[in-house]
Amino acid sequence: MRTLLFGALFMALTAGCTHHDPFPDRASEESVSAALIKLAPARLHADLDGLSSGDRQALAKLVQAAEIIDELFLLQVDPENPRIRRDLQRAGLSTHLELFTVMFGRWNRLAENEPFLDHKPKPPGAGFYPEDMTRAEFERALKEQPEDAAALKSEFTVVRREHGKLKAIPYHQAYPVAEAAALLSEAARLTEDPSLGKYLELRAQALLNDDYFESDLAWMDLSGDLEVVIGPYEVYEDGLNNYKAAYEAFICRVDPKESRRLAAVAEHLADLEAGLPIPEAYKNFSRGMSSPIKVADELFAAGDTKAGIQTTAFNLPNDERVRKAKGSKKVMLKNVARAKYDLCWIPIVNAVLAPEALKLVSFDAYFHHVLMHEVSHGLGPGIIVKDGRETTVGKELKELYSTIEECKADVLGMTTLKQMIDAGVFSDEPEGSLYASYLGGMFRSIRFGIDEAHGAGVAIQLNFLLEKGVFFEEGDRLNVERRNFWPAMNELANKLLVIQAEGDYESAAALIDRYGRMTPLMQRYIERLKDVPIDIRPIFTIKEQLGLE
Ligand code: ZN
Repeated sequence: MRTLLFGALFMALTAGCTHHDPFPDRASEESVSAALIKLAPARLHADLDGLSSGDRQALAKLVQAAEIIDELFLLQVDPENPRIRRDLQRAGLSTHLELFTVMFGRWNRLAENEPFLDHKPKPPGAGFYPEDMTRAEFERALKEQPEDAAALKSEFTVVRREHGKLKAIPYHQAYPVAEAAALLSEAARLTEDPSLGKYLELRAQALLNDDYFESDLAWMDLSGDLEVVIGPYEVYEDGLNNYKAAYEAFICRVDPKESRRLAAVAEHLADLEAGLPIPEAYKNFSRGMSSPIKVADELFAAGDTKAGIQTTAFNLPNDERVRKAKGSKKVMLKNVARAKYDLCWIPIVNAVLAPEALKLVSFDAYFHHVLMHEVSHGLGPGIIVKDGRETTVGKELKELYSTIEECKADVLGMTTLKQMIDAGVFSDEPEGSLYASYLGGMFRSIRFGIDEAHGAGVAIQLNFLLEKGVFFEEGDRLNVERRNFWPAMNELANKLLVIQAEGDYESAAALIDRYGRMTPLMQRYIERLKDVPIDIRPIFTIKEQLGLE
């Protein structure tokens, strides 16, 4: 409290000295601090031992390139951002500057984009379109300028208005990309990993012409110690149309031990499918792993992915042509998961679990369940036959599909993890920690409600397992009855898989209606989690580690 008061006093004094306050309507110091406290600072560090000297030198260039990506994304969010940052620095508004840096702009991404420097709402199309452009004007331009329609809708152009007419400008002309491209070329020459060298060289060219296809293909072939993604990918920042891709970067070190384990899991896919608790006819041996999975530690992240909530996994590329040719790749970020576990997850289980269960929770059990959740998306029915016609589970379950699919992946994530422990792939995992960690993890998913697929899927599991006496209240905490655990999990897995195999929309709706609900019990526990940080604010140590700082 004291530091806050001093901060306010200091600000009052400096504000009095300057001639004009650049942000007279800004949110109070207290409310900005309160927003920051929800994101616990976390030092993200990874072991660089064993990295070749060429890769280390390349890494230094890649971190510099990623820092430019931060600047490019800042411009994509709001072309005024560089000016705003300068004004914040000059005015000495360090707390507001910190929130601005975390949010990449003046809107709080964790509070429905509430503005905290002035009262200006965020334009739905961020900085990708003229600020005052309406959807109607955009649609009209598509019709009236058919020759420009493809360019206006392209994921790699910004839209500007010139002489009253909308015009598409390619990213490589709209944004200062040359230096980032030059750094990628330098890194390509320095690395001793030919697969990385090829990707970086192609990606450097792509930044300069916005044709990412060849470099996306090369990314699928990365096989060395570094896992690097850099470029425009996700389209969520364009809330108007979801057309425009936002710049981002992930620079990661591959975790060889976990990656080997996943390779071992991949060899057991047929056993996992065979072990599903459903009739033989419903098993599906033709799917293969939906996408290769790598485990890595994040050394640096930049741009879109760093704004607001930190991701623990990404699945790229998004280009359907690449997915058709080579599939997609999932990268799980172990050190990010670990930081979230320590700072956001442990406080949750402390408030929810009975002492006996609490003793047993472990990061490995939590992380391995997440891994097997991802693997499990590739198990069970996919293409099915209903009423004599070939269809897919997704088409039949429609808007209920993602809830059922996420719930399935959670449940099979546990049953297949057990199967892999028994097969010796995760032999170092004590089984007791599975139950406790699984129960604790549920509250992380439902603490903000059950409106989206993950949360609703978790509510189904929690309520089903409470009904079966697997979880029960002991005093004001929850505990696990181990003896009931696997029979109940197999019963739930069977229900979900049969719904999928039969494309049974009615049963899916009935299951969600009965179990996918917020209950007074859940509400009571969630109440206790109000002060737990909702996510982390990464502090990357890589520049210290490389002697760049
Ligand atoms: Zn999932």
